[in-house]
Parts: sequence; C-alpha cells; structure tokens
Amino acid sequence: MPLEKFGNNKAAINGLTNSIINNKLNHAYIIEAEESRDRIRFAKEFAKAVLCQEKRGLGCDKCITCRKINHDNHEDIFYLEQSNKTGYSVSDIRELSEKLMLLPTTGDRNIAVIDDADRINTFGQNKLLKLLEEPHPGTIILLLTANRENLLETVKSRCVSMNLGIDGESTKRQKEKALEVINIIDKKEYYHIFREYISKYVKTYDDAIALLNELEKIYRDRLVEDTEEASHILNIILIEDTRTDIIKGMNRNSAIKKMYLKLGGK
Ligand SMILES: [Zn+2]
Repeated sequence: MPLEKFGNNKAAINGLTNSIINNKLNHAYIIEAEESRDRIRFAKEFAKAVLCQEKRGLGCDKCITCRKINHDNHEDIFYLEQSNKTGYSVSDIRELSEKLMLLPTTGDRNIAVIDDADRINTFGQNKLLKLLEEPHPGTIILLLTANRENLLETVKSRCVSMNLGIDGESTKRQKEKALEVINIIDKKEYYHIFREYISKYVKTYDDAIALLNELEKIYRDRLVEDTEEASHILNIILIEDTRTDIIKGMNRNSAIKKMYLKLGGK
C-alpha cells in the first residue's frame, strides 16, 4: 500500500508527503499504530517515499532502492533489534548511534527504525535523546509504538508525532461488540435481553472497561455529528460514572445494570 493511501489519518500522511517533496523532513518521528505489522509496513513505505529516485514522496516499488527496501536489505535502513528479552538496552542505542554516524551508502539519508520504541529502557531513552538533540546530518529516526504516552516527555518533545489511525484486530472486535450493545440500548430493550449480551461479552474487569470505553467513543462520535443533542452528553457522563464505580471496586454487573436502567432500558 503506497504511503499516500496509508491508514485513516489522511491529513498527517499528506503533510508527510509534502515534507518529503519539499525537503522539509524532521529528523525524528513517533509513529503510533496498534499493531507492529502496520507500523513496520508504514516504515517501509515511508523509506521508499524518502529514498526512491523515480517517484519522490511516493515510491515506485520498481527501482533498485524500492526493491531493496521491500526485501529488507537496503544498506541505509537500520532496524534496531532488542538485545534483551525485556527490551532495548543502552548498548543497542549506542550501536545504532555509531551506525548512523557513517555516511549513507547509496542515497543521502540513513533511516533508523525502532519498533516498540517504548521498550527502550530509561537509560536507553536518555542516550537516544542525545541522538535527537544533535542528529547526524541526513538521519531520520522512526520511533514506532502502540502508545506514545509510554515514551519520556523529553523524547516526545523532540519528535513529530503521528497516529496512523489503524485499528488492531482486538479494537475492531471491541467496536463490533459495542455496536451490538448500543443497538440494544437504542431499542430500549428489556434488561434480560441486554444482560444476555453483557454476559457474553463481559467476562473480566478488562472486558468491562474496554466495553465502556467503546460505548463512550460511540456517544462522542454521535455528539460530533449531532452537537445539539444533550442526551449524548448525559450518556457519556453516565458511562464515565459507571467506569469510575467499577474501578473503585463496585460489582461490574451491578454497575452496568444501573447504567442500563439510567440509559432508558426497561
Ligand atoms: Zn522506487
């Protein structure tokens, strides 16, 4: 999938393509997407768009540069490997820094790709900070993560952040469940019907929180489409209160039942 068609965040992707074409790239990016597979695919498309000599800003998938990137053997792209089971060590970052000091072999840029960048320990992130503060000329560092909030503030502040807006499989499943549940709420069905869905979908504390999060997102989307509707706001508050009750230790089934009846269920 070419860079221009990547993910759901069209504005960010267009901005990135323009920066490549106008030679205004930043030296470091934080790229967020739930699944590693999507993040790596993005990194490759990005590298092609930057390094391809045929179609700058897009990548052609045919030239030697694009083909090398597709086959993971481009000399100027460094995928950092985790040397510890628990994540990247300081020496991983140090080695990367040494590689980035070398002049690029074929083009004018070295690109470092660090997936699960939140698995760099604090010492490593501080070492990385030096690279971000005084980047080697031409270097681009891609920090790929499922959640940028797990990175140090000092690291975040030196990078351009982009969320690709691609849901992972678990989020897709959560959304589908929430849509079924909201359908019951909208129809104001009897509680025993609602309870059947809840007993099917909510088996653990995490299931309950995930379902409430998704229900809240649906009402927030409705609020954007239909700003006059005060009931969406009340429903959002109700869901937030229910989540707080469960977090504080209230029985999740009782909390969700109370919420359903307040949402208008019978
Ligand atoms: Zn190409």
